[in-house]
Amino acid sequence: MNISTNTMKRTASLILSVLFAGSMLLSACSSAKSKESSETPVSETETTTESTTEETTTEETTTEETTTQETAPTIFKGNNPDQYKEITLDGVKENRFVSTDYCYIVSEKYVIFLDKDVSIPGDLTVNLDAIIDEIERQTGLSSMPDFYDYCGVINNAIYYDGYNPWEFWNIGKKIPIFLMTDRKAEGWISSASPEMALFVCYEFFSDDVWNSVPQYRDNPQIRLSCTPYDVIAHELTHTVTLRNQTMPDIFTEGPADYMSVTVVEALADKYPSIAEAKNFMYSYDSKLPKPVTAENAEEIFIEDYHTLTPMERGPEYTYGKYLCRFLCETYGEDFYKRYNDKCQSMRLDYNSLEYSEEVMKQYAQAFKDEFGEDVFTRFGDWCVKKNVLK
Ligand SMILES: [Zn+2]
Repeated sequence: MNISTNTMKRTASLILSVLFAGSMLLSACSSAKSKESSETPVSETETTTESTTEETTTEETTTEETTTQETAPTIFKGNNPDQYKEITLDGVKENRFVSTDYCYIVSEKYVIFLDKDVSIPGDLTVNLDAIIDEIERQTGLSSMPDFYDYCGVINNAIYYDGYNPWEFWNIGKKIPIFLMTDRKAEGWISSASPEMALFVCYEFFSDDVWNSVPQYRDNPQIRLSCTPYDVIAHELTHTVTLRNQTMPDIFTEGPADYMSVTVVEALADKYPSIAEAKNFMYSYDSKLPKPVTAENAEEIFIEDYHTLTPMERGPEYTYGKYLCRFLCETYGEDFYKRYNDKCQSMRLDYNSLEYSEEVMKQYAQAFKDEFGEDVFTRFGDWCVKKNVLK
């Protein structure tokens, strides 16, 4: 339960995920760009942390192979459709499936692409199904909006030593979820974009990989005893929200951090494995360059912390998280949908790689149009009253 390490790593991972998401927005259909942007996550290894002995039952649950008929027509499996096995899980958390080759799992709203040496619990899809449903419920958005320009399974060859096992695959509107093993300890982290969610979590590394890399094996405390469903909820929130509407960094990372907590809390009672993740969940507050007040809340929103260097990133998560709390408390649970719809109606489009004050002023105006001219001053006053963002 190494909270400080945990949160530092988590923060680093989240930080890079926005960079990734931002750059991906520019090039939804460009695999070349996607490779370029996926190279950015090289600093800290993603993953929440905690020691564990859970990966014991590493039996090769050669789970039944089923080709789900209803999904078959929407999936084009490249030029060699029988090359990799489709896997189904048995729903039992203690039964782990350990891959020995690339394989995949099909669900209603996503397809999981497994690296060739990952270890996952038997209830992973049960929990992922619930998490995506809950994100849709809380945001009021569809994870598979009709208007989004879907362009096949993104080329992640950078993670596969230059090889793309899923070349030419097309899964329609489903979300591609990649589970990767960082077997050379290069510091890959989880990330997300409208095109996909990608998880590099120690908890998904097979024991063979774990034990073959000294910096993993000799630091058992960095591996949680449970699946980090809060991290998963964070990244999937990105994919769902950004498929619907581009948002500034503050309102990309803020809602993801906010919902990583609210989604896990909403599901914990019904899903035991998510309840375990809740016990390890820790909401980290970054130090801000300056306190947020009624006088500067709007100005900071417009700046979107765009001048911070990659190493300084973090305030956008924290500002955005509290902004969501304030909005939910003050205007109700449908705040995300309301703002999303307002931005859509104004045809706003944000490009995090090319900051534009003009565009950011429009996003700020959308807030005021939707929630009232005084929304930022109310938020600043709320922060002071709640003693947050100081
Ligand atoms: Zn993020």
